[in-house]
Amino acid sequence: MPELPEVETIKEDLKELVVGARIDKAEILDLALVEGPSPEEFVRRLEGRLIVDARRRGKNLVVGLDSGDAVVFQLKIGGQLLLVPPVEVPTTALILVLRLDGDRRLFLRDETGFTRARVSTGEELAAWSVSLGPEPLEAEFGVEYFRGKLSSRRARIKPLILDQEVVAGVGNIYADEALFDARIHPRRKANTLSADEWAALHRAIQNNLRAGIEHRGTTFSLYRDVLGRKGGHQEYLKVFLRAGEKCLGCGGKVVREKVGGRATFVCPACQREAGLEGEQSLLFG
Ligand SMILES: [Zn+2]
Repeated sequence: MPELPEVETIKEDLKELVVGARIDKAEILDLALVEGPSPEEFVRRLEGRLIVDARRRGKNLVVGLDSGDAVVFQLKIGGQLLLVPPVEVPTTALILVLRLDGDRRLFLRDETGFTRARVSTGEELAAWSVSLGPEPLEAEFGVEYFRGKLSSRRARIKPLILDQEVVAGVGNIYADEALFDARIHPRRKANTLSADEWAALHRAIQNNLRAGIEHRGTTFSLYRDVLGRKGGHQEYLKVFLRAGEKCLGCGGKVVREKVGGRATFVCPACQREAGLEGEQSLLFG
């Protein structure tokens, strides 16, 4: 599932390979893709336009056109954007085909069917961007912001860092990895974290996202870059999808639990659920 590092990788690929190209033809193969406007208008606003930039906002991919419009893609669980050639022509799960000048084609495919896209004006794009939280690797996401935003909340910490209005781009994989690095149990209530724990978690979120970008994303099964290549960060994961395996911190066992409805990987020895602060909150909370 593409999170910030995966979408960042795709965005960089598009900048290198596709920016400057003209969209000669746009074919929608699955109407469920289009969130807005109508599929006919979606096609009309793409065809004949030059792709002038590729950006990322949180987990969303933003492809800018010379008209001032932008196509916003949410790749959700299994969305793939593949440039053909040189990638072999995909034949299954196609939802959108963009024919570019120079006889190239950009294929959007998704076996899971959750990918969505919309065409937005510059104004619509700006309003939407403001509704999202800060970018975790930019200065606006400071530790003071992070702690100030959440430290009075009684909700569990993991769902809060997955909330795209708190910070935009963190998903299930990097949340679990960051919580492990910070030695914080995903079920801890935000208002029980100490100042040191907020600082450790802030640092861990940034470090894990940076490492994910450096390794060009995490591939378990579906994620691919624009040239069809897998990411490499799965080799570096410490807890995610490692249930039953040895904890790299203490030698104990990583377990799989459910937190906020999401599969969650945790070392119960390294990430104590009821620390000192947890016990205090039971007394005073
Ligand atoms: Zn451990």
